[in-house]
Amino acid sequence: MEQQLKELRESAVIELAKADSLDMLNDLRVKYLGKKGSLTSILRGMGALSAEERPRIGQIVNEIRAELEGVIEAKGTELKEAELTKRLASERIDVTLPGRQPSEGHRHPLTLTLERIKEIFMQLGFTVAEGPEVEQDYYNFELLNLPKDHPARDMQDSFYITEEILLRTHTSPIQARTMQAANPNDPVKIIAPGKVYRRDYDATHSPMFTQVEGLLIDKNISFADLKGTLELFIHQMFGDNVGVRFRPSFFPFTEPSAEVDISCVICGGKGCRVCKGTGWLEILGSGMVHPNVLKMNNFDPEKVSGFAFGMGVERIAMLLYGIDDLRLFYDNDLRFLRQF
Ligand SMILES: [Zn+2]
Repeated sequence: MEQQLKELRESAVIELAKADSLDMLNDLRVKYLGKKGSLTSILRGMGALSAEERPRIGQIVNEIRAELEGVIEAKGTELKEAELTKRLASERIDVTLPGRQPSEGHRHPLTLTLERIKEIFMQLGFTVAEGPEVEQDYYNFELLNLPKDHPARDMQDSFYITEEILLRTHTSPIQARTMQAANPNDPVKIIAPGKVYRRDYDATHSPMFTQVEGLLIDKNISFADLKGTLELFIHQMFGDNVGVRFRPSFFPFTEPSAEVDISCVICGGKGCRVCKGTGWLEILGSGMVHPNVLKMNNFDPEKVSGFAFGMGVERIAMLLYGIDDLRLFYDNDLRFLRQF
């Protein structure tokens, strides 16, 4: 048996030395060391040996196994290196191949609309003011002529966090904050864009939506300034041919107050489903800043006056692009978003 093992070892070493590929090396490993390999077969015959011989032969088998494993490993490393060198020599990168196109996004229709709105007012000299979305009741309501018991608070179902803190229901607190921080002798001329939150959800309402409000305070500001500014904005936004109509309305923070309508952009004023047959579409609320609001925010209503307005960006975008369901803006459906 010793002789048998010696021959096996010799032929294995010779064959392994000749292996010229990893596949061939693996075949040889199976042939000699595998479960059905030569060395294992010899081990099976050890049952016939005497008790004295068995440990000695067992040791020789183990030595041969260890030796062959070492040879196979060294040969494997050598072959891998050889293959890599060969591949590096033969493979070339074709730098003329076209690159992979990275997928490209674009701005959301609401962002596009908001940017257009900002652009128009910035051309008129308004600056952009921002404020927190989690707001104190004091700024959201009280400084805007809406004391705790005011019935108009019911007009807005709010998300309260504590009794004194809520998600802002409009961007008006930015107006209050801007007035508080301003020098009452200087003019104020801002627009306040941002997300606002109310408990509403249907085809034309979302619990989160985007608002832009505007505020202008200076000496001798009249309703004519309000009208002129908003008409100019509407014509830049929707085109010169769009009709503009001011309707008396009520807001606690302005007096007098007006809703502003534009002639229906779908039917041109003849009357259709979108304008519910009236030929008009409501797009924003406005008014002259209430003297109480000026006073509460350190301005003297005897010396200065101002106007304010507010609009929903979703509403403007829906009219601009002819979208009939506001929820589409938030569904993140690429088939919808890719149209803009
Ligand atoms: Zn219409």
